[in-house]
Amino acid sequence: MSSRFRHVETMGNRLSVPIPKDENGFLGRECPVEDCLGYFKVRPGTGLTGPGLLCHCPYCGQAADPNSFWTKEQIEYAKSVAFRQFADAVRNDLKQLEFEYPARGAFGIGISMKLQPGSLPPVRHYREQKLETDVVCDECTLHYAVFGLFAYCPDCGVHNSLQVLQRNLALVAKQLELAASVESRDLARHLIEDSLENCVSAFDGFARETCRVRAAHSQDAGRAASLSFQNLGNAAKAIQRLFGIDLPGAVDTASWECTTRAFLKRHLLAHRSGVIDEKYVLSSGDTTAVVGRRISIEPAEVSDVAATITALGSALIALLPKP
Ligand SMILES: [Zn+2]
Ligand SMILES: [Zn+2]
Repeated sequence: MSSRFRHVETMGNRLSVPIPKDENGFLGRECPVEDCLGYFKVRPGTGLTGPGLLCHCPYCGQAADPNSFWTKEQIEYAKSVAFRQFADAVRNDLKQLEFEYPARGAFGIGISMKLQPGSLPPVRHYREQKLETDVVCDECTLHYAVFGLFAYCPDCGVHNSLQVLQRNLALVAKQLELAASVESRDLARHLIEDSLENCVSAFDGFARETCRVRAAHSQDAGRAASLSFQNLGNAAKAIQRLFGIDLPGAVDTASWECTTRAFLKRHLLAHRSGVIDEKYVLSSGDTTAVVGRRISIEPAEVSDVAATITALGSALIALLPKP
């Protein structure tokens, strides 16, 4: 992202007005698509450079000329700056025509023209909005900011869902390290259980978004836009039906079974305070499980789950059609 000049035409003359960046060096942008009009920011000087690049809306993915992404406030500002410069120029020209002929003789008439100080048209200043998530694109290094969490990169157009998954799983690894270093067994168990819940919610968030942005390519767009991945077995069946892809086939059978079971354990943690029920025993194939006992989760199991869902995430991106 390189240009931050808005061109304004006045009386046939072209004027480039530099658009100010915010206090962090970001420039506001607005999607030109009428039913999107999404607001986001980019940091000029980062990301791709060169002629003919398009800008992508992070929300709807629409690609268009970067000059169609000015916000309404920026356009009003640029117009007001241009009009002000035009008024200044006219005023200077008139100033040079000032004259004063004093009266001569008894019946002479003096004539003068002087410009009175008057107000010039005001410049319409504005402030860029605060956004929720700062992203540095893994592919093209563009710094940008959006509402929400998931987005297409405005420069290279790559969706950040896999990047978000990987970042969340890096936090899971840190949480497991922390669990290994605390003395309290209760605290360690709490951290391990929490790290499993974080794995599941990270994958669920990633895969939901990945399918949502590709819903138009599925058998049932409404269903594909609202899939849940909290139960991996059910999600795999839905993905097969909607997109015709084999998710379990992307990893080895042992990893798939361990991960689907861990997702069922997460269900017990979230809804049964971690106490094993009939349904878990029947659906998990966990031969060590006893109804009424507390589920046990090993740190190595969570590490394996994190590795498996990283592989499943990459496979999902590779197997699904491009958004
Ligand atoms: Zn848009
Ligand atoms: Zn990018």
